[in-house]
Amino acid sequence: MPQSPATRVVAAGRPAREPDAPLNQPVEFASTYHAGGEVGYGRYGNATWAALEAVLGDLEGGRALAFASGLAASSAVISLLPEGAVVVAPDTAYLGVLDQLRERAAQGRLTLRQLPVTDTAGIAAAAKGAAMVWLESPTNPNLDVADIEAAATAAREAGALTVVDNTFATPLLQRPLELGADIVLHSVTKLLAGHSDVVLGALVVGGDDVYDRLDAHRRLHGAIPGPMEAFLAARGIRTLAVRLEKAQATATELASRLRAHPSVNLVRYPGFGTMCSIEVAGGAAGADKVVDTVELWVHSTSLGGVESSLERRRRWPTESETVDESLLRLSVGIEDVDDLWADLSRALDAI
Ligand SMILES: *Cc1c(COP(=O)(O)O)cnc(C)c1O
Repeated sequence: MPQSPATRVVAAGRPAREPDAPLNQPVEFASTYHAGGEVGYGRYGNATWAALEAVLGDLEGGRALAFASGLAASSAVISLLPEGAVVVAPDTAYLGVLDQLRERAAQGRLTLRQLPVTDTAGIAAAAKGAAMVWLESPTNPNLDVADIEAAATAAREAGALTVVDNTFATPLLQRPLELGADIVLHSVTKLLAGHSDVVLGALVVGGDDVYDRLDAHRRLHGAIPGPMEAFLAARGIRTLAVRLEKAQATATELASRLRAHPSVNLVRYPGFGTMCSIEVAGGAAGADKVVDTVELWVHSTSLGGVESSLERRRRWPTESETVDESLLRLSVGIEDVDDLWADLSRALDAI
């Protein structure tokens, strides 16, 4: 019987069970290896990356490649595109990924067709003649949800690769390869590593040809993870199921309390996951008042740590104009729900 993902986060990616073998893959600090083996050099492989890749591949149902950051991973995916390719992408998504696509479009090297991830029919139509359909679901920070299966089916019929940024859902809530996607992207920095102490990325791929091309890109361009980062991420993943369960229950409860707060105009919560965005009274100034008033919630960018944090996303100049000026992105951690609510509701009262 296949094991539950809650078991696989604990059991996968371990050293072989031999007498005196360690339970966890230790950090392997090595730039080079004795000749004659499969790895050879520290830019080509590392046992600590391999352990992290084993657990990620197991969870997503494919083969994983770890990268120095989520953006190093997206950059590797974009490198697969031929010059002049058409890419279908969300109108709102993680801004760094969109900036990478826009940079290449500005250089005249690709044509971008951007539309909302919720517009499944539009995505299917735009996929015709495209080389790649890029999805993110739920999106950062509007938390819109894509129909991955329908979009991936249309992309496949059109001969395009489907990429899904699965950072917000994690493989415990959504497995895009099973829905027909070709490449899954993770900012491992976020929920997977889970403790706000690591920057790391990963790709998980279904097909061998795409895997080989991405592996070759990593070898040649060198956006490799550090062994210490890979160790910390693998360690973080061991508690992913319990962190996610707790934070998701809290996020669901906070979303319902937030809907009843007079200073909240809109709650964006897709019904699952640990992220919840709110649009508040008083525009940008109202939102800034909230981040200045909270004492338990941390005002910072990034997300997915054990500590709850929040941020007004439009403080970043390249954030999409489809994101409201007053939008606060809440990353719910594992603190007590009533302590989180007391702090947040007091800050909302202060608007
Ligand atoms: C943070 C993030 C990224 C970028 O990852 P880094 O690890 O910061 O490079 C990509 N996609 C999403 C959805 C993110 O939240």
